[in-house]
Amino acid sequence: MSKRDYYEVLGVEKGASKDEIKKAYRKLARKYHPDVSKEENASDKFKEAKEAYEVLSNEQKRSQYDQFGHAGAQGQGFGGFGGGAQDFGGFGDIFDMFFGGGRRRDPNAPQQGADLQYSMTLDFEEAIFGKETDVKIPKEEKCDTCDGSGAKPGTKANTCSHCGGSGQLNMEQNTPFGKVVNRRVCHHCNGSGKIIPEKCGTCGGSGKVTKNKEIHISIPAGIDEGHQIRVSGKGEAGVNGGPPGDLFVVIQVRPHEFFRREGDHIHCELPITFAQAALGDEMEVPTVHGKVMLKVPAGTQTGKTFRLKGKGAPNVRGYGHGDQHVQVRVITPSKLTDHQKELIREFNEIGGNEATDEQGGSFFQKFKNAFKN
Ligand SMILES: [Zn+2]
Ligand SMILES: [Zn+2]
Repeated sequence: MSKRDYYEVLGVEKGASKDEIKKAYRKLARKYHPDVSKEENASDKFKEAKEAYEVLSNEQKRSQYDQFGHAGAQGQGFGGFGGGAQDFGGFGDIFDMFFGGGRRRDPNAPQQGADLQYSMTLDFEEAIFGKETDVKIPKEEKCDTCDGSGAKPGTKANTCSHCGGSGQLNMEQNTPFGKVVNRRVCHHCNGSGKIIPEKCGTCGGSGKVTKNKEIHISIPAGIDEGHQIRVSGKGEAGVNGGPPGDLFVVIQVRPHEFFRREGDHIHCELPITFAQAALGDEMEVPTVHGKVMLKVPAGTQTGKTFRLKGKGAPNVRGYGHGDQHVQVRVITPSKLTDHQKELIREFNEIGGNEATDEQGGSFFQKFKNAFKN
């Protein structure tokens, strides 16, 4: 059986807005919800609409579907909803959608702390060689004054009598398709499950305070712009005994005036004189590992690149070193004395105008030949 077009399933135009797609889906979900629908094949219809909605309500999935059709929607990095025939796992989502209620986790269950992100800017050499450093990061920690309870010392937080500490209230609602129990966040305790008669003066009842925490970070050699270092367990504290989150350090690297990084390789440009290019020379070239002698052969053209093996950045995963690529640029002299001009004229007259390429052929002759006809 071939699949129907998702837009057709929802009965919307190709250019439909997010709102239109949502509305169309709600309408179908009400009509075909398998718990309440008397329609024939309601369950299949519902599933079809749900799948179409899952794709078209997600910008990335939608654009992939628009480009590649169903193949795109089931393609890599994306799959998941193709097979689950009995998957009505979205009940909660649907009810939330209809009634706008928040589906909240049990406020007393252990929860992992949030991950933190920290941006760190390194000098060019620091990224190449790595370093050990301490950073101060503002983190939410348990309030010491109240030991995280949020209650003034000597007082106690009471379990919310309205929700029994669950933070949620069940409400029965009459809907077009029968009675539905809808869970809502308890408005007496704002979902915390606790009522604090006298709040802690330090944290204002939240049980948490923001502290600057010093964290040691090891920057591995060879790290580069955009890399992330994960420092396990250094994110925000967990709630109700849950584990802490992680800290992600995002690396930025200041540009260097001479070197440019491309992966593990380092590139630089080396200005040389016309005489050095023509006659050849041996010269010192800076690398991040110190100075290296580079032999420029006679007759070197501008743009020629020399490779200094192993003089690049260390691979951040430990796979050796990159190279340094040195591109020479022949500088044409612009301020000449009369005597120098005289010598160049003389050079020209004795055949210097017959510029030859590296193979010894006349470049200008080839150029002229190209325009013969
Ligand atoms: Zn409550
Ligand atoms: Zn406190």
